[in-house]
Amino acid sequence: MKKIGILTSGGDAPGMNAAIRAAVRCGICAGMEVVGIERGYAGLLEGRFIPMGLRSVSDIIQRGGTILRTARCLEFLTPEGQQQGFDNLKKEGIEGLIVIGGDGSFRGAKVLSEKGFPTIGVPGTIDNDLAYTDFTLGFDTATNTILESIDKIRDTMSSHERISIIEVMGRHCGDLALYAGIGGGAEVIIVPEMKLTNEEIVQKLMDFRASGKRSGIVVLAEGAGKADDLAKMLTEKTNLDIRASVLGHIQRGGSPTHQDRYLGTCFGARAVQLLEKGIGNRIIGIKDNEVFDIDIHEGLSIPRKFRTDLYELAGIVAR
Ligand code: ADP
Repeated sequence: MKKIGILTSGGDAPGMNAAIRAAVRCGICAGMEVVGIERGYAGLLEGRFIPMGLRSVSDIIQRGGTILRTARCLEFLTPEGQQQGFDNLKKEGIEGLIVIGGDGSFRGAKVLSEKGFPTIGVPGTIDNDLAYTDFTLGFDTATNTILESIDKIRDTMSSHERISIIEVMGRHCGDLALYAGIGGGAEVIIVPEMKLTNEEIVQKLMDFRASGKRSGIVVLAEGAGKADDLAKMLTEKTNLDIRASVLGHIQRGGSPTHQDRYLGTCFGARAVQLLEKGIGNRIIGIKDNEVFDIDIHEGLSIPRKFRTDLYELAGIVAR
């Protein structure tokens, strides 16, 4: 291949810039032209192509978000939009494409690959909701951002003998709540995969109180309920002093951690290696500390397995 494109799509995630940087520089090093496509599939349809040079990715490895910007694009869900995207890539002389994004973005990549356009997916989503890979770009940074918040909230909860409910992102996947809950020593973790009844939550908090704990942290994934509703219920059913915090968009931003910069670099490099060999229709991931790639359809068909072992461990070590 002589010319490849790269875009970021769907929700942004820290580490995407490291992947862009690696793909651009590895591509150029392999003698290819690299074109950045702004605003995901929307920019592909609008023809927002920008030539990337070694210096266009300077000073970005430490920055959250994505310099190519991202968008959601309804038009790309239609066969006409998808054909337009394919045609625009061909018109531009691009022979292979790297898509950095989540599940939805990968479905778009699959469509392009099925049309015969070699496309590689790099997993970038803070939720960690792609089953084929142990980790996605942005998950580690977001987990650390949540941890910092838990630590700060815990200080004041402890002084006032209060219980804090901290609502974090994760509509279908409770990994952010689980991993941040383990690191932050949460007394209770509530995730969509392991729904608890109101009675069970009340009982857990009463048990902690009885064991001598005066304050506590409940980490709640947004897909398992709203912090305000839970605080109201617990205030009604217990005599505990309850506060609710919703972390919101701070979880998406910030300077990527080492893990996300490292993964971004390795994933970007692997994507270029595949395109160099003319290989498309693959998505990249990390399993047992090894970077690997897998067929898009196969990778997306793997059912997500929640780490119930970690969930149980979190319960034991919080006692
Ligand atoms: P994420 O990639 O983070 O999961 P979205 O689900 O919003 O984010 O997907 C990003 C974009 O990918 C969508 O706006 C759309 O343009 C494209 N996309 C999503 N699902 C599909 C699909 N089934 N087929 C083709 N393109 C899709």
